[in-house]
Amino acid sequence: MDALISRLTDLLGADAVLTAPADVAGYVEDWRGRYRGLACCVVLPASTQQVSDVVQACARAGVPMVPQGGNTSLCEGSVPRADGEPWVVISLARMRRIRSIDIANNSMEVDAGCVLAQVQQAAAEQGRLYPVSLGAEGSCQIGGNLATNAGGTGVLRYGNTRENVLGLEVVLPDGRIWNGLYGLRKNNTGFDLKHLFIGSEGTLGVITGATLKLHPLPDSHATAWMALASPTLALEMLGRFQQRSGGVLSAFEMVNDVQLNIVLAHVANRRAPVSSRHPWHVLVELSDTGGEQVLQDALQEVLAQGVEDGLVLDAAVAASGAQRAAWWEVRHSVSEGNKKAGMGINTDPAVPVSAVPAFIERATEAAHRILPGAPIIVVAHLGDGNVHFIPQASFEQWRAFQDADATAHAVKHAVNEVAHALGGTFSAEHGIGQVLTDEMALFKPGVEVDLMRGIKALIDPQALFNPGRLLPSASPRPGP
Ligand SMILES: Cc1cc2nc3c(=O)[nH]c(=O)nc-3n(C[C@H](O)[C@H](O)[C@H](O)COP(=O)(O)OP(=O)(O)OC[C@H]3O[C@@H](n4cnc5c(N)ncnc54)[C@H](O)[C@@H]3O)c2cc1C
Repeated sequence: MDALISRLTDLLGADAVLTAPADVAGYVEDWRGRYRGLACCVVLPASTQQVSDVVQACARAGVPMVPQGGNTSLCEGSVPRADGEPWVVISLARMRRIRSIDIANNSMEVDAGCVLAQVQQAAAEQGRLYPVSLGAEGSCQIGGNLATNAGGTGVLRYGNTRENVLGLEVVLPDGRIWNGLYGLRKNNTGFDLKHLFIGSEGTLGVITGATLKLHPLPDSHATAWMALASPTLALEMLGRFQQRSGGVLSAFEMVNDVQLNIVLAHVANRRAPVSSRHPWHVLVELSDTGGEQVLQDALQEVLAQGVEDGLVLDAAVAASGAQRAAWWEVRHSVSEGNKKAGMGINTDPAVPVSAVPAFIERATEAAHRILPGAPIIVVAHLGDGNVHFIPQASFEQWRAFQDADATAHAVKHAVNEVAHALGGTFSAEHGIGQVLTDEMALFKPGVEVDLMRGIKALIDPQALFNPGRLLPSASPRPGP
């Protein structure tokens, strides 16, 4: 290991190879502070060539590597393992260059270490929108977003990360650099290889650059906060907004009262958008270029009808940009609030949008069979069917459990079974990491897992990239 560290120091310089426990600490613990791995060093390459040099050195030494972006993974996938030989963490933190923006092509080429908010800002300065948006956008990196195919609050209108990328640059596990930075919207020359690396969670090499798709930057928004009695009524309102406003509906985010109260109690400077208390809440937004009045008219019309028909119990319309921003801060504070509030059993399923109310009802019954009466946090991207369904216990209750890990596992599995039975998935946007590989073996069709294993063996025959993550070690279920 000393020889490898010395070789990496020769390649990158001493300040780009961290070995002191205090320097390494922030790179080996996951965002929630629930898992701490072992690293022989953290390297901070500053260019694609340096990433390639690092990968070749580690491959020659046979040492496992984990690429790391902002380390905001919610699946413990971005940190090294705690057992066995220590790994090398390849942090992209020094690769933060916006390489170019092509306005006419509506695209931008960036280093994979660019922070998501930095990319959004650079696009906005040119009158363009990079539409992927999530609570971790001030820390997560484009490379991490691509490696996890991140979703967030813009999926309803713009799709997830996969749908907002035109090309990739990747350092492969043998150190070769694949330059696939095409800025093309049409390219039917065989397999579209970028899609193999999107969602690969660091198991197929290091994404070092990307060509991203840009959109016109909306300058008009109409935003409302609605309080409702049930997810079924929220779904009815979603349909009405879609029908009235078509393609300009840009967000439809639902939280329950449990979730809202946690944010208000645990995150500083957050205020309830409506003063009355109700079980369900939706943040709805229409966005477009030009003509705010048109958006406001559509928003108010649907809201007023919803109130008249008894679907909406209370509502407020954002009167200023500052108020809109404050409501979005409430929405984007859910993970921070939940982290402080207690032990949440996090799940990330998606079901067909029409099945969301049934999912919430049945998942609640399933969770309460194991944890009777546990508060359930629900935060849902209702417009795309993704429900973060989070049974919760206080830290004290959690410590009192006989076997907390087994209980959490049983609850997660019960919730995922409900999603599966409704034609859904157990992982909609956070990925698999190391926490969902068992579920992968149970729910993913055997043929799909076999194909994924074949691709992994082809691209990373030494199995040095993020081993034990994403792919299950157990046999997948048989059948198609
Ligand atoms: C407050 C909060 C809110 C969140 N909200 C959402 C949300 O709404 N939607 C959502 O989808 N996710 C959300 N997440 C999860 C997380 O932010 C995303 O998964 C994000 O895309 C991870 O990016 P990252 O740069 O932090 O990656 P990391 O956490 O560093 O890594 C994640 C995975 O990607 C791999 N990886 C990272 N960089 C590279 C690279 N350059 N090349 C190859 N592999 C790489 C890692 O090995 C790891 O497997 C949230 C997280 C937090 C903490």
